[in-house]
Amino acid sequence: MFDSLSDRLSATFDRLRGRGALAETDVREAMREVRIALLEADVALPVVRAFVDKATEAAVGQNVLKSVTPGQQVVKIVHDALIEMLGSEASDLMLDVTPPAIIMMVGLQGSGKTTTTAKIAKRLKERGAKKVLMASLDVNRPAAQEQLAVLGGQTDVQTLPIVAGQTPVEIARRALQAAKLQGYDVLMLDTAGRLHVDQGLMDEMKAVADIASPTEILLVVDALTGQDAVNVAKSFTDQVPLTGVVLTRMDGDARAGAALSMRAVTGRPIKFIGTGEKLDGLEQFHPERVAGRILGMGDVVSLVERAAETIKVEEAEALARRMDEGKFDLNDLRSQLNQMKRMGGLSGLASMLPGVKQVKQAMATGAADDKHLVRLEAVLSSMTPKERARPEIIAAKRKIRIAKGSGTTVQDVNKLLKMHQEMAGMMKKMKKMGGLKGLAKLFGG
Ligand code: GDP
Repeated sequence: MFDSLSDRLSATFDRLRGRGALAETDVREAMREVRIALLEADVALPVVRAFVDKATEAAVGQNVLKSVTPGQQVVKIVHDALIEMLGSEASDLMLDVTPPAIIMMVGLQGSGKTTTTAKIAKRLKERGAKKVLMASLDVNRPAAQEQLAVLGGQTDVQTLPIVAGQTPVEIARRALQAAKLQGYDVLMLDTAGRLHVDQGLMDEMKAVADIASPTEILLVVDALTGQDAVNVAKSFTDQVPLTGVVLTRMDGDARAGAALSMRAVTGRPIKFIGTGEKLDGLEQFHPERVAGRILGMGDVVSLVERAAETIKVEEAEALARRMDEGKFDLNDLRSQLNQMKRMGGLSGLASMLPGVKQVKQAMATGAADDKHLVRLEAVLSSMTPKERARPEIIAAKRKIRIAKGSGTTVQDVNKLLKMHQEMAGMMKKMKKMGGLKGLAKLFGG
């Protein structure tokens, strides 16, 4: 279902493979291609922009891990950004309430609302062992209520008996009462659709929602309508408190656009996708699997994950050994900063080094922010390896050179050296106390 997008992206990443370092120009070139691929897949422009910015930021300046190529690493970054765009985690139906849980289905005519109602009822009955009642509130379309009754017959799910001449609100009341009295776990309300979003439809939905207080309000939209599907979802979101979206006709040659922009534009998770006319053509929406399908590179993603894990462990072990020996030079500080970045910033360091009061205080006062980190890194990078190994050789002249090279000031260089001295001093103290093990004891470990 995401074939063309998938093809384009793999062609882009193939070009990146086998190069030595993750250069900014390579990243930007790849991201330009990603941008075009997403736009061709009909993803909304603001969503594409946000996506590309985020992925570029994550990729530029990242160290290339040992044992993977830059291309592979970019695949992983784009993969993670895709998952985030799709909503990170699969969202299930939230039916954990005093029964009956009420699922209200809304959407335009022909979107697949009635079919999806029956699909979900079937799924709940078979997988969740739920007792489900379905009711059609569609009094506009002739035979809509009969259609649901037929689907109920096919899935062996009860439908509310049809009483001619009732309004949607009256049917909803009757359905609620029946569900309560007869001990149903779940009541599904299939509301009427319209050809376009109009105020009459919205008012009717609000009236039904008011008396039914649904546990879930699911919007059904047709993925084949691309950006229109997202626009429809946006206007519904503004009017009724949707809890999720079902994208139908994902079995067709729908471009990926609707699926990719939906979450970002509406803020609501895609809960299910419809994958066929038959009543078992319904799948839970898993952002991770979909991102995998789009990139078609699951092997690369897990390779990079493993490499990142190994390096983290190796670096942490090496650092722990040196700390145990009471050694801590600027190379160690640099590798510590790199680790920190991966672990999500300063709080990571503070929690690893409980003794570094200054860092904690700086964090509390807001003095140590990400900009501060970037400056520290820049200063460290413009030192030579020898200077990092033996900070005591950094005299005035070297300080001026380092400041120039890193776009900082001599004051910044001094601050870093002082911070390092304090940390190194602490390491020495720790050694006297019996190294990391002694420290752990102090903290009750
Ligand atoms: P409603 O007007 O929104 O209630 O739409 P219906 O449930 O009557 O569906 C309209 C048409 O779309 C029917 O022919 C369904 O079989 C078809 N349909 C619904 N969901 C899917 C789907 O996921 N895939 C495909 N291929 N067809 C679907």
